[in-house]
Amino acid sequence: MEHRPPRFGGPSTSPRMDRVEGPTTQVLQCGGVLVYQLLCGRELAADDPMARQLANYVYLVVNTHDRTAIAVDAAWDVEGLYGLASALGVTIRGAIYTHGHFDHCGGELPPFMTRGRRVSKPGARDIEVRGGRVWAGPGDGSQMTGQCQLSRQPLEVGDGDVLDCGDLVLHATGRARGGGAGKPGAASESADPRLKMFGDAMGETLTRCEAGLLITGDTVFVGSCGRTDLPGSDQEQMFASLSRLSKLDPSVLVLPGHNYSELPFNSVGAERAQNQMMRMGMSQKPSPPRLPPCVLCDNRGACGPKGLKIGRKVRIKGLTSDAGRKLNGQPGVVTGFASDKGRYAVRLISRPEVKCLQPDNVESVPSGETCDAPEPEQKEAQAPPTPREFVDAAIALIDNATSDEKVRMSRLEGPLDWGSRDPRWILLTTRLLNGGNARAAFGVALPEVISLLTQEFDPKWRTMVSEFLVSEL
Ligand SMILES: [Zn+2]
Repeated sequence: MEHRPPRFGGPSTSPRMDRVEGPTTQVLQCGGVLVYQLLCGRELAADDPMARQLANYVYLVVNTHDRTAIAVDAAWDVEGLYGLASALGVTIRGAIYTHGHFDHCGGELPPFMTRGRRVSKPGARDIEVRGGRVWAGPGDGSQMTGQCQLSRQPLEVGDGDVLDCGDLVLHATGRARGGGAGKPGAASESADPRLKMFGDAMGETLTRCEAGLLITGDTVFVGSCGRTDLPGSDQEQMFASLSRLSKLDPSVLVLPGHNYSELPFNSVGAERAQNQMMRMGMSQKPSPPRLPPCVLCDNRGACGPKGLKIGRKVRIKGLTSDAGRKLNGQPGVVTGFASDKGRYAVRLISRPEVKCLQPDNVESVPSGETCDAPEPEQKEAQAPPTPREFVDAAIALIDNATSDEKVRMSRLEGPLDWGSRDPRWILLTTRLLNGGNARAAFGVALPEVISLLTQEFDPKWRTMVSEFLVSEL
C-alpha cells in the first residue's frame, strides 16, 4: 500500500487509475500524541465502493515517545492500517471500538444489506489475529464477539476508564447512561486521547490542538449527529451525550466517525454554536451526567503538592502493606487531589478502581510535556505543472488504465462541462494535482488547460472521460 499520495510527475510517472486521491490526510497533534485521521475509501480500503460510500474514519492514535499506537474503529482495511503503522515505524497495541456497527468494527454485514448472503468485512477480528488487544464499551462486547467472530470478548472500557499506551493514556468518555439497560446503537462511546504525542512523518496536513482531541464515533458528526432511528439506539441518550460533550473545553477538536461534512473535524465550541442536534441536546438535557474529571483535565491544570496534572499517567510506589505492595509499580491516572485528606485520587489502569494515595506514593511517569519526535518535515513546495504537462499526464492516466478500470470508466456517465464541480474535473485534479485546486494551480491558464484537454483526448477517451460518475469519486 502506498501511503504518500502520488504527486504530479508527468506522463511517465503518472498515477494509475486504481485509486482516486482526495485531499491530504489530516494529522492532529496534541503534545506528544499524533492522531492520523484515515478515511475509508481514501487512505484505507481505497478500492472498496462500499467503504467510499459509508465514509468511515479510522483513527491511529500514536504515542510518539515510544512509537506505539492504539487504533480507533479499525475496520475495512486492517492490513492497510498496519501497513501505515509500519511505514511510520509504529507498533499497534490494539484497537478500541466506539460501538458495534459493522462499519466501525467489521465482521458480518447485516443480511438486509446482502440479500441474505454472508459477507464480512475486516475489523476487530483482524486486530485480534495480529495479537492486538480489542477494547469496547459495556454492552458492545458480546454483540461484537459474535458479529466479528472474536475468540474472546473485547476488554470492557467504561466511562472514565483509560487505555494504556506507554506514557500516553487514552480516556474513554462513555455515553450518558440514563439508568436501565442502555444499548449503544448510534449513541456511542467517545475516546479522548488526552496526552501529548511526533512529527509529520507522512508529510500531510498537521493541526496542533493542545486542548485535547475527542474521537466521537457516531455520537457527534461535524454539524450533525448519529442516527437514532436504528434498532437499539435511543434519542434521549443521544441528547444527553451531545449535551455532555458540549461541556468540554470549546477548543477541544471533535474527530467524527464519518466524513459527512466538508470539514474533516471541528471544535467543540463551533459545534456548540452550529450543530442543531447538539443544541437540541443542550436544551433538552441541560444537566447531563458530569464528565469524568480526567477528561476535563486541561481546565484544571496541576493539582496537589506535587503539581500532578489530572488525567496524566502516574505510577504507584512505596506502599508497604500486603495489599499495597501488589500495587507498587502499577500505572494509574490522577483524577484529583482531596486537599482535606491530603491525598491523590488515582484511578488504576488495570481495573476501574480509584485509590486514595499519599503524595509520597505517587510518582509521575516521564511523559508528554515535550515531544521527542522530529518536527514535521516541511513539504518541499512543488511548482504546479504547466498546462501541457498536466494534459499529457491526463492522457497517460487514461492510456495506462487497466482493462478493469476501462470497464468501470465506460460505465460512467454525465455531462462534460469542465466546471469546478464536474466529477471528471475533480478526478483529474485529485489524481494529477494531488488534491490541489486546478484554478489555484493554473490561474489564468485554466482555459488553456481545458481547451488542450478537449483537443488532445483521443475521441474514444473523450467519450469515456465525458462519462465519469460522481459515485466513482
Ligand atoms: Zn457509523
